[in-house]
Amino acid sequence: MTDLNPQTNKPTRARFAPSPTGFVHIGSVRTALFNFLLARHSGGTSILRIEDTDQSRFVDGSVANLLSVMKTLGIEFDEGPSVDESGNLKELGDFGPYTQSARLDIYKKHIQTLLDSKNAYYCFCSSERLDELRKEQMALKQPAMYDRLCRNLSEEELAGKQEEFKVAGKNAVIRFAVPLEGETVVNDLVFGDMKYQNALLDDHVLIKSDGFPTYHFAVVVDDHLMQITHVVRGEEWIPSTPKHLLTYKAFGWEPTQFAHMPLILNPDKSKLSKRQGDVAAEDFLNKGYLPEALINFVALLGWNPKTEQEIFSMEELIAQFDLAKVNKSGAVLDTVKLDWMNAEYIRTQTNSDLVELAKPYWLEAGVDFNKYSNEYFEAIIALEKERLKKLSDLPDITKYFFEELPKIEAEKLVWKKSNPKDTKHNLVLLQDLFRISDDEVMLSSQKLEETVKAFIAEHELDNGSVLWPLRYGMTGEDKSPSPFEVTATIFLGLGRENVMSRLQQGIDLLA
Ligand code: GLU
Repeated sequence: MTDLNPQTNKPTRARFAPSPTGFVHIGSVRTALFNFLLARHSGGTSILRIEDTDQSRFVDGSVANLLSVMKTLGIEFDEGPSVDESGNLKELGDFGPYTQSARLDIYKKHIQTLLDSKNAYYCFCSSERLDELRKEQMALKQPAMYDRLCRNLSEEELAGKQEEFKVAGKNAVIRFAVPLEGETVVNDLVFGDMKYQNALLDDHVLIKSDGFPTYHFAVVVDDHLMQITHVVRGEEWIPSTPKHLLTYKAFGWEPTQFAHMPLILNPDKSKLSKRQGDVAAEDFLNKGYLPEALINFVALLGWNPKTEQEIFSMEELIAQFDLAKVNKSGAVLDTVKLDWMNAEYIRTQTNSDLVELAKPYWLEAGVDFNKYSNEYFEAIIALEKERLKKLSDLPDITKYFFEELPKIEAEKLVWKKSNPKDTKHNLVLLQDLFRISDDEVMLSSQKLEETVKAFIAEHELDNGSVLWPLRYGMTGEDKSPSPFEVTATIFLGLGRENVMSRLQQGIDLLA
């Protein structure tokens, strides 16, 4: 289904336009996702454009990393940089190049149009002068703005300055000549109409002295030439939008639609950190949040389906996504909710799929996959699945399954209402019982429970003083699945001898 954009009567073309500065911020994932959902929902086109005009911020390898994160998350682009089967970068689409640093000739041509129409002008002011000006304005509590000194240079003055710069081997910048009167209205699909007095807008730089365009210039030229119908981006770009709209006007172009997404906030409502460790999508994935869970979580950062539904597959998100249901108010990045959601997704996976997903975490923790059967890993997963919040938690909570013997302390073996002597005796009794119990019993936590409970009744023991040392002796942990589940699982993976040795370790400690 291809919906036409009501304003332009054209199919939707939505772009994600990140600046490749290293890692992928979780806010960028949201922008990429919403652009993708908007495009897919209407049968339109999803475009990736790399905005690398600020060469000082460019980090090598960022694009490859970005593409890999997007692929993992299931966010697809129909046009833009892409990787082929052999891992080489290539480009898809007819509107390229899709990387701004490869489009310098295009900006050069377009800036000339604005210079010719007097919508742009050369500025020769030194950075020292601009600093001075800023200081003066701050002292007077005025907004920091360029004072437009070079805007009204006569032909002769302009020629003189140009000659002077040429001799000195310097380049002037080019600024936008913002109209001195009137107002600019941003019609935002989320935030509604916002009015700006043109006189209060700065004559911002369009071309820097290194010849590169600024973001403000390149974004307009590219969105127009790439026939973008919707600009979906973060709220922090709202103040830039009147500048962009005036640039469209200066060119005589029809502007795109704008939809700004609300800020993402910390749970205390402060602005979300930019520190990589807290907000990088890669780190969330590395911690063992499943891509589907992360996407589901990010989709709800600002978008409200207006129903009770909280769990959405990508297909459901595509079917239901609507810019009209994006909120204006800040969206809180609630990691407790993310943990809950991830646990929901973990529970829907098969045990064997979860073993595959958990493998890297176990390997990193030194678990030797050749030493144990697949069945053992699946049984362990089955025990933890109901409570597991993220895959990275797994090695720690399951470590006793891969140790020859767990580390235990004598004191902890003794149930609070028991004593060392009885505890030792009970462990010996358990050994006797497990020595003669059939494999069929030992392998089934349910049968094991029936057997052990009948045994407790027969010897007139109390549950705690048998089951606590059994569970603790098997695991060395204060908390774990039930004594029957861990014993049956250890029996499955490590055999009867190991079960006996674990009990013996307790007996020896209590000697
Ligand atoms: N390159 C900008 C960024 O890094 C994109 C802003 C926009 O989408 O217009 O966020």
